[in-house]
Amino acid sequence: MKQVVTNRINAIDRDIRHEGMTADWSEQASERENDEVLESLGNSSELELLKINYALKRIDDGSYFQCDECGADIPPARLELLPFTAHCVDCAEKIEG
Ligand SMILES: [Zn+2]
Repeated sequence: MKQVVTNRINAIDRDIRHEGMTADWSEQASERENDEVLESLGNSSELELLKINYALKRIDDGSYFQCDECGADIPPARLELLPFTAHCVDCAEKIEG
């Protein structure tokens, strides 16, 4: 299970890093007139990387399947849906509103 999750996260990680480095990216960038759009795109992929790195760290230290907040097990179905979440449903709702 851990191996499966690690592989999946690594694959997503590669996708996102790769996405940021394609030639299309800079072309699209110069075509876009709205700097704010670009800025938010850049920010969100950076945020994704942070989440991915954090998920990898949690896998390494064995806490990936536990909620950061209350320590309860995070249901596998939730991790399937949100592989980078660090919280159970209850805590996520409290934290994210
Ligand atoms: Zn929790």
